[in-house]
Amino acid sequence: MQIKRNVLLNPGPATTTDTVKMAQIVPDICPREKEFVSMMKQMRKDLVRIVHGDLNKYTSVLFCGSGTITMDVCINSLLPKGKKILIINNGTYSMRAVEICEYYNLPFVNFDCPIDEIPDLNQVEQILKENQDIALVYTTHNETGTGILNPIKEIGFLVHKYSAVFIVDTISTYAMKPIDIEKDNIDFCMASGQKELMAMTGLSFVIGNTELIKKSAAYPKRSYYCNLYM
Ligand SMILES: *Cc1c(COP(=O)(O)O)cnc(C)c1O
Repeated sequence: MQIKRNVLLNPGPATTTDTVKMAQIVPDICPREKEFVSMMKQMRKDLVRIVHGDLNKYTSVLFCGSGTITMDVCINSLLPKGKKILIINNGTYSMRAVEICEYYNLPFVNFDCPIDEIPDLNQVEQILKENQDIALVYTTHNETGTGILNPIKEIGFLVHKYSAVFIVDTISTYAMKPIDIEKDNIDFCMASGQKELMAMTGLSFVIGNTELIKKSAAYPKRSYYCNLYM
């Protein structure tokens, strides 16, 4: 089969090769059968390995949807009752996270930073110190629109110093920039098949700390289908 190769002048979805397209032409498979389960298991492990995660501590969860679905899932699933989320916001994608908080009526702090600068870490620490009820901190690794690369390791260090959980949108860096989930102080990160993996659009995934996912079973359920623990 000859497939015309288009040049897409957008940051994502990436264009796919003929081999990627053709790899999908397979016999039908039943999602309740062993073959499907073993394929999923392998894929979930491989996704953790890309960010050098220890499979005894980290796991991945797949969702059908574009990258935004995993932002929605992480934010709505990982906030304990009565606690706040801090969004370190220096671009459009972090702004999207703020909007997700608004839609779910979550208590949040929006640390609004200039879009052409990295966030001031002293200010981040000040906010964490003054708001002891912040349980979750969210930021974007690479703000795709501007190319600003945020210092996630340093931010994550502060997040953990104040005993909060760190979520990083790595959708435009996963499999592109080296990431070590543990050394980079990340508890949850996410990505989508359609970006750096150059796979087909429609499958996205969260990679995160297995113990924290289990713990989140007791947190308020704000969505039925888009809940990380479920
Ligand atoms: C592409 C991207 C997303 C997800 O966008 P979708 O349009 O849902 O695929 C989220 N965050 C960043 C940083 C991105 O580059």
